[in-house]
Amino acid sequence: MSTEIDYYELLEVERTADDKVLKSAYRKLAMRYHPDKNPGCGDSEARFKQINEAYDCLKDPQKRAAYDRYGHAAFQQGMGGGGGQGGGDFGDIGDIFESIFGSAFGGGGRQQQRRGADLRYDMEVSLDEAFRGKSTEITIEVSQSCEPCGGSGAQPGTGKRGCSMCGGHGKVRAQQGFFVVERTCPTCHGRGEVIEKPCRSCGGEGRVDKPQTLQVDIPPGVDSGTRIRLSGKGEAGPFGSPPGDLYIFLHVKRHRVFERDGTTLVTKVPITFTTAALGGSIEIPGIDGEAIELEIPAGIQSGKQLRKRGEGMPVLQGRGRGDLVIEIAVETPTKLSARQKEILRELQATETGDECPQSKGFFDRIKDAWTDLTE
Ligand SMILES: [Zn+2]
Ligand SMILES: [Zn+2]
Repeated sequence: MSTEIDYYELLEVERTADDKVLKSAYRKLAMRYHPDKNPGCGDSEARFKQINEAYDCLKDPQKRAAYDRYGHAAFQQGMGGGGGQGGGDFGDIGDIFESIFGSAFGGGGRQQQRRGADLRYDMEVSLDEAFRGKSTEITIEVSQSCEPCGGSGAQPGTGKRGCSMCGGHGKVRAQQGFFVVERTCPTCHGRGEVIEKPCRSCGGEGRVDKPQTLQVDIPPGVDSGTRIRLSGKGEAGPFGSPPGDLYIFLHVKRHRVFERDGTTLVTKVPITFTTAALGGSIEIPGIDGEAIELEIPAGIQSGKQLRKRGEGMPVLQGRGRGDLVIEIAVETPTKLSARQKEILRELQATETGDECPQSKGFFDRIKDAWTDLTE
């Protein structure tokens, strides 16, 4: 059974340990717990296996990344079930890793089919583009199946022969202390066969890097974090196996006028203090470019939010639109003419305090507080 002790703890290293540190920690511990040094001690034997398992995982950057992300769950499936005798725990972690990450297996362990890697492409779009949707083209350098050899890696007209190292099994077994360790064959890399003459275009890889132009359709309503999957547009799989997928990660740029919160758009609109006092109708631009008429009720205050239904962002892959929230900011005039000041002074002279209940209330409260203090 697979151990549940943290691999880093087992090897007594920090999570940030580099390859060198890992290796020396592993060596030290492997020496200490080696079955040859502790004959008949079941605990040491178990610990030795755990250390090997931990190091086997962490020394491989891909497996280590998977372990960091998913912990033991990344490798549990099939662990122990892969069943060799005695050394069952040493099942090929690579195989398990691949089975979790969507690779398909060929029949019977040999000739495993590895899917090509998934790719990530980051794309910035404006809020207007996120509103309308967009059709665009991108060109990326991506490994594709080699044409002359059809991805097989063998020069056209030549074939493959069974691997003599592993006898076509794709795996080799080696004695290690008490244990039989089964590993992927280093000669054929688990395929069980080797190429007689490598293809000249791809050097036997079956893949070549080529720029690829792709059409990307961005639907209306996308947000930062939306991913678009282009199925089969990732890296070609090795030796003619299926390609991975390409994921477009979208980032929506900030807009000068609108802030976005899901399907809701928020905008701040300054209005003159006379409009705020008397009320009126103003026009503001919508995200769709159409003018929106907004009724300002008389006596509106700064910070008050008005809502226009259906003037926000479209629902991604759905119907309708969110709302537009308009936050009112009453602007105090700063450039008054002499005549305007005169009018305002006249207004001021007629004020009783009842026009602005909030201010009145505030100053009344202050007056009360002052009276309390002085009494
Ligand atoms: Zn082989
Ligand atoms: Zn080729």
